[in-house]
Amino acid sequence: MTTASVQPSAETSERYEAITLKNWRSIPQVQALPSDLHRDIEVVGRVLPFKSNRFVVDQLIDWDNVPEDPIYRLTFPQRDMIAPENYARIERLLDAGAATDEITAAANEIRLTLNPHPAGQMEHNVPQLNGKPLPGMQHKYRETVLFFPSQGQTCHAYCSFCFRWPQFVGMDGLKFAMREADQLKAYVEAHPEISDVLFTGGDPLIMKTRVLRAYIEPLIEPDVAPNLRTVRIGSKAPSYWPQRFISDNDADELLELLERVVQSGRQLALMAHFNHAVELEPAVTQEAIQRLRSIGVQIRTQTPLLGHINDDADVLARMWRRQAQLGCIPYYLFVARDTGAKRYFELPLERCWELFRDGYKQVSGVARTVRGPSMSATPGKVQVLGVAEAAGERVFVLRMLQGRNPDWVGRPFFAKYDPKATWLDELTPAFGESEFFYDAELRELLAGTGSPWSNGKTAGDMDATVPLLGREMEAANA
Ligand SMILES: *Cc1c(COP(=O)(O)O)cnc(C)c1O
Ligand code: SF4
Repeated sequence: MTTASVQPSAETSERYEAITLKNWRSIPQVQALPSDLHRDIEVVGRVLPFKSNRFVVDQLIDWDNVPEDPIYRLTFPQRDMIAPENYARIERLLDAGAATDEITAAANEIRLTLNPHPAGQMEHNVPQLNGKPLPGMQHKYRETVLFFPSQGQTCHAYCSFCFRWPQFVGMDGLKFAMREADQLKAYVEAHPEISDVLFTGGDPLIMKTRVLRAYIEPLIEPDVAPNLRTVRIGSKAPSYWPQRFISDNDADELLELLERVVQSGRQLALMAHFNHAVELEPAVTQEAIQRLRSIGVQIRTQTPLLGHINDDADVLARMWRRQAQLGCIPYYLFVARDTGAKRYFELPLERCWELFRDGYKQVSGVARTVRGPSMSATPGKVQVLGVAEAAGERVFVLRMLQGRNPDWVGRPFFAKYDPKATWLDELTPAFGESEFFYDAELRELLAGTGSPWSNGKTAGDMDATVPLLGREMEAANA
């Protein structure tokens, strides 16, 4: 039985092969690099998660252009991703032949300084069902609940900027995990304001189709959760492992599962993560996109803006144009988050806006569905609309694309211009005001723990801010 009208071609068959700290020395392209780059991999790879794969190495990285190559920088550890003193510390331990335990302990100390859970993700967004926290879920914005399937907490390769990294490096207690698909279903049914479930991770498409099916199928049975309109899956598989949709031994079953969601009358939106135009070039990637589109899957794309990788308006324009041409819908351009190797990737907000604008103005309206640059910050997703003069003052014009309180969305607000600011928490209100319009309400919302939507209130009640039912995070982690 075939579901997809576009059939995979035989020559795209390949076996997935991870490249990690254990085997990178056996990869010919890496062997050929100068020894200082080997050392950087060895040292930085102890602190930040490192995983690439054969497809990325053979088809996405231009080895003549290493170390400048964007996908090399995206998946291989670079010296400047950690502070010089931290680099020196790990290097000394390696040179002294220190025991693995000792190196790991030092690496863990360094990791804890890298703000592993920004924007209060853990404390403030964990929902509850019947008074019990659901630690594998986050519910921050009214319409959309995030679900972290416990078996989807890894990826086909790791992005060196990724704020999800604590989930990959084996530190106990920080990992979001939850097995119970039933609880997800019950939560969605108990919350009529939810229209979207977003499966995220890691990368949920790392899971075998059989496992993914166990999570998705209960949600799309007839008469279940009629409020659920869109099943979203956040994934980088179209870039890092497009064979997932073509030649993996359960690729056809995956397509069938996704098609079943569409046939249930819901949308299946693949929230595909791309960082650079080159990721759209391999034939197998285009074939995967075509195959997904042929069964009615929407592909929406999102991109974090990263120094050293895609801080080039022409690259952004080329990427958005290519995506639109392949039938994908450009969706978000994000500002790099305040965590991990941010020191390497961060860009001033003004620069982010210039890059966005210079890329955006080069593409046709069909690719101007992209919104950004957007910071996923504590109050919501904050877009930098630009730098302007108003009332004799130079200001950032901002607005929320998403808000912890939906009523905050779409209101313009103003911050003092600061050419060095890289994140919302470095901005202060313009025009002599003491705080942003949402600050007082935000303080109240944060006075409790847990998701704002798990306090017995429904959508319409949010204007009147009610302190949340709080559970301590210890309980959420138990
Ligand atoms: C971005 C995001 C969503 C989805 O927001 P949309 O604008 O609907 O795509 C949901 N939850 C959290 C926590 C998010 O950061
Ligand atoms: S694929 Fe996504 S979750 Fe995985 S490392 Fe990259 S950004 Fe992080």
